[in-house]
Amino acid sequence: MAEETKVASMIGRALRRRCPRCGAPKVFRKWFDLVESCPACGLQFEREQGYWVGAVAFNTALGIVAFLGTFGLILALTWPEVPWSIVSPLTIAVSVLAVVFGYPTIKLLWVAYDLSVHPLEHHEIENARARIDGLP
Ligand SMILES: [Zn+2]
Repeated sequence: MAEETKVASMIGRALRRRCPRCGAPKVFRKWFDLVESCPACGLQFEREQGYWVGAVAFNTALGIVAFLGTFGLILALTWPEVPWSIVSPLTIAVSVLAVVFGYPTIKLLWVAYDLSVHPLEHHEIENARARIDGLP
């Protein structure tokens, strides 16, 4: 139960664009620019080489959900006189915008998910501590 709460908490922090581990703000320099490590807890967000492949998979899922959601919403709102000429451009536009602007947040959601199934290892905890203590 406590573990579920922790996962929900990490997901909530990621959705608010905060560090999934500690909830610290300011983990982005700009909208798209995630810092290398959390300024408060020292968590290195890219935990290993190729780490963001999982975020790309999550982002692909976001694109599919945005596409189907937009498509379904247009159908539900306009049925039976669906404006077919705008359905494709609109669904594609919404999907592209969701994928492009959602990607930074998706990266944090990936970190939250990954931390829930692959908790920090001892050396990662030590490295995080060293980062916030300013040690080499
Ligand atoms: Zn943190």
